[in-house]
Amino acid sequence: MNTIYTKINELAEKYRDYTAENLSKLIRIKSLSMGEEKVQLELKRQMEEAGFDEVRIDGLGNVIGRIGNGKTILAIDGHMDTVDMGNPDNWDFDPLGGEIKDGFVHGRGSVDQEGGPASFVTTGRILKELGFDRDMTIYFVGSVMEEDCDGLCWKYIVEEEKIKPDFAISTEPTNLNIYRGHRGRMEMHVSFYGVSSHGSAPERGKNAIYMASRVALEIEKLNERLKYDDFLGRGSVTISEIVSNSPSLCAVSDFARIHLDRRLTWGETKESAVKEIEALIKGMNAEVTVLNYYEKAYTGLEYGMEKYYPTWKIPEDHKVVQTGVKAYKHLFNKEPLVDKWTFSTNGVTINGYYDIPMIGFGPGNEILAHAPNEKVAIDDLVISSAFYAAFAYDL
Ligand SMILES: [Zn+2]
Repeated sequence: MNTIYTKINELAEKYRDYTAENLSKLIRIKSLSMGEEKVQLELKRQMEEAGFDEVRIDGLGNVIGRIGNGKTILAIDGHMDTVDMGNPDNWDFDPLGGEIKDGFVHGRGSVDQEGGPASFVTTGRILKELGFDRDMTIYFVGSVMEEDCDGLCWKYIVEEEKIKPDFAISTEPTNLNIYRGHRGRMEMHVSFYGVSSHGSAPERGKNAIYMASRVALEIEKLNERLKYDDFLGRGSVTISEIVSNSPSLCAVSDFARIHLDRRLTWGETKESAVKEIEALIKGMNAEVTVLNYYEKAYTGLEYGMEKYYPTWKIPEDHKVVQTGVKAYKHLFNKEPLVDKWTFSTNGVTINGYYDIPMIGFGPGNEILAHAPNEKVAIDDLVISSAFYAAFAYDL
């Protein structure tokens, strides 16, 4: 039986080495957030070589490759920035070597997550070779700054580039499962304003560190009673930093600030999370603020957003999830596992802000993200390159 799916599998297999080599080339270019220029030029070159209809780089530095010019818009996203190497002693191989050996591509970014873009370049090549003719526009996006501020790149694409896809796939690592959500997160400051006095007479002042300490212990208790969701698990809150100030080391502290890392489960929002903290500081001279992110992209453009990354989940029976399930079964003749990420992705804006139905499917295991000895199986790349093509046919 020579169906389109058989052909897709054959081509993905035929381009196995091509995909692995493309990934190796990307890994060999160091690409920390805001320093992605060189890797973006290489990705653009790869897309052009693969025969995409159009490839361009937007104002924030995202590479946007397009195939087709039809009605339904599908976006396939993978971020091209990586985290740093960490302690080199923890690596058994060169993190920037891109070595291809024993069925794996080795190095920083192999899993998180240049393996996704390397796979979707091959998808583009497969679709062109098959003469893909559905009434669709497919954008293949190599995005930037995700490790620093997840979702920012898609805020730019939707609001400045005016591209609003009907469906999206994130190629972050899912171990070849289909993911349909993850917890959201936000960062807050709680600031406490005390009154200083001479350190020899603390009773005359009001110590901001004591104010912060009382609230800190309440936050520990708050963490125990946060909401639970059957699919996404529990929300959480922790204090990642306390800073304080005082006119002198011989004075009562008049300022303290707590930094909160809040993870949001289903039903928890920015408003609800702020309210919980406001309840803890009631009657105190203190305030809660949600932080902002604002940075300069490698293109020189300064751009930002609030550090609120909404929770998202897509119902399992939604068309976008079921299309993924169908594509997987057509290709591999077995049921995929449908699950969720532990970490956060560009889904926080794609679905969390803009409500674009999306799933995740990507090569590699999330547990190797940001870890030493990061490597991805070439089989995973082959399967992913086939999956994205089959998804386009099945949508
Ligand atoms: Zn990532």
